[in-house]
Amino acid sequence: MTTIFEQDTMSPAILVTGASRGIGEAVYRRLARDGHPVIGTYHTSSIPAARLAEELEQEPFVQVDLADEASVGALMDGLRGRPLKALINNAGVIEFETFGKFDLGIWQRSFAVHCDAALKLALGLQEAIQDGGSIINITSTDAFLGGFDTLSYAASKSALDSLTKSLAINLGPRNIRANAIAPGWIDTDMGTRFAEYVAGMTPLHRLGRPDDIAGIASFLISDDAAFVTGQTIVADGGYYLVDPVMKWEAADNET
Ligand code: NDP
Repeated sequence: MTTIFEQDTMSPAILVTGASRGIGEAVYRRLARDGHPVIGTYHTSSIPAARLAEELEQEPFVQVDLADEASVGALMDGLRGRPLKALINNAGVIEFETFGKFDLGIWQRSFAVHCDAALKLALGLQEAIQDGGSIINITSTDAFLGGFDTLSYAASKSALDSLTKSLAINLGPRNIRANAIAPGWIDTDMGTRFAEYVAGMTPLHRLGRPDDIAGIASFLISDDAAFVTGQTIVADGGYYLVDPVMKWEAADNET
């Protein structure tokens, strides 16, 4: 099959990490539909990744383990000489931990995938990102909260949120913008088994869909967001605003 890159190899592409499923897949689909050449990465989902690239007539996905420094280096080597319009650090992993039996390995893996990889890709690919281009980091509303059994996840997302602001400050003079999207509960493999409860507590009365995040990514890389940098857009249907006790009290007062 002829890929878009075989037709036009110098078109600035968008790199989306973790595009093989969930939010990353929706972002990949949306940006391809918007007419951008998109390069997706996967870790283990080789078959869905291959199908996706073929369906959308994009070049093949690149395999990478973002927790592995050499693998991240190989990804960047493979992109050498490629102009980029945007870098979207989406890939993520959640590992549950017990506070009393804290596992430093989980902490290190969380930071490696969410922060170290995002930083290395931003630094390593900054020259490839064109004037007017952007970086988007997918964080989480957990970045603003403490974690019971997800403290490594929450801390690493918080650090990624901070990194976004530093990238905005340092890359702004080159007219490269950096923003974060902080999803709330989104219906993916990483989502919650308490979906019904979450929907009930959310002002918009539903979980988020991966497409809800994809639309924001499409906006942030567009010229409509040309003066938006260093920001975190929360997309949680209003869940974060609700104090459960106040909601229950209000319901109780009505009866
Ligand atoms: P999924 O679990 O559905 O998908 C995770 C993606 O990340 C997959 O493409 C996976 O690749 C990739 N990935 C995981 N580990 C690695 C690794 N070590 N190296 C490279 N790639 C890796 O997650 P979501 O789509 O739900 O989440 C996407 C982002 O959104 C994450 O950063 C997550 O933290 C964040 N988020 C999600 C929320 C939710 O409720 N779903 C809420 C808030 C934030 P593969 O499939 O090939 O293994």
